[in-house]
Amino acid sequence: MAKRFTDEECVKAFWKKVDKRGPDECWNWLGAINRKGGGYGQFGVRGFIAKAHRVSWELLYGDIPKGLMVLHKCNNPSCVNPSHLYLGSRFDIRRSRVSVIKRFEKKFTKLDSESCWEWEGARSNGGYGMIGIEGKSFAAHRVSWLLYVGAIPEGLFVLHKCDNKPCVNPSHLYVGSRCDNARDAVERTKFPIRRTSKYDAVQIRKLLDTGLEPWIIAKIFGCSESTISRAGGGHSRYRRTVNLNR
Ligand SMILES: [Zn+2]
Ligand SMILES: [Zn+2]
Repeated sequence: MAKRFTDEECVKAFWKKVDKRGPDECWNWLGAINRKGGGYGQFGVRGFIAKAHRVSWELLYGDIPKGLMVLHKCNNPSCVNPSHLYLGSRFDIRRSRVSVIKRFEKKFTKLDSESCWEWEGARSNGGYGMIGIEGKSFAAHRVSWLLYVGAIPEGLFVLHKCDNKPCVNPSHLYVGSRCDNARDAVERTKFPIRRTSKYDAVQIRKLLDTGLEPWIIAKIFGCSESTISRAGGGHSRYRRTVNLNR
C-alpha cells in the first residue's frame, strides 16, 4: 500500500491536509472524516481512499506488518501525528477505549519514567496487579503494555526489568520468553543492558519472519537495532529494511 502514496505529489497533498502542531500535540486531519466509521480521517488519492492515520504511519515507517493495525495512543481517531500512533492487534482496539484507559490510570500514580508505577488496585496471589475488563481478569502490567506499547507477540511474556511485580510503568516492561524471566532473576542488576541470548535469537528470527521491522523488535527486546541485526544473522528481512530512512 505504501508505494501508492510515496511519490512526491501524494506526500505533498497528504501533509496539506494536516494541522501540524507541536511534536506532542495531536495533528488533526483537515480533510474528510468518516464519522460513521470511527471518526478516522480519509485520504483520497487516484480514486483510492485510505485511512489518513494509516497513510501517516506508512509514509514514515513503511508497510504495516501483516496482522497488525495502526492505533492511537491519544484516542483521537482524526490525529495523524506519527508519534501518537503505534502498531497493535485487534485485541488492543477493544482495550484502548477511553473508558478502559481512564479506569486503568485511576489505579496507579503516574510518576516520572524512572520510578515504578505501583498498582494500587487488586493483586493476584503471585503479586501482580489485576484489572477486570469486560468481565475478565487481566494482569495489569500486560494491559499496560497493550495500552502504551502495542501487541504482545504470540508465545512471549511481558516481563519486568525492575523486578517489581505490581509495577505498570511501560518503560520498566519488556517482552521476552520465560527463559528470559528465569535468567534475568539470576543475572539482574538494577537495569541491565539487555544482551540477546541464543534463545532470543530464535525468537528474533521468528519475529523477522512475521515481517516486523527490526526497530520494533529492538523495542520489544529492549536492545539496540544493531543487536537485532547481529542476532538476526543477516536475515533477508533485515537486509531489506535496514536502510529505511526514518
Ligand atoms: Zn494525537
Ligand atoms: Zn518498575
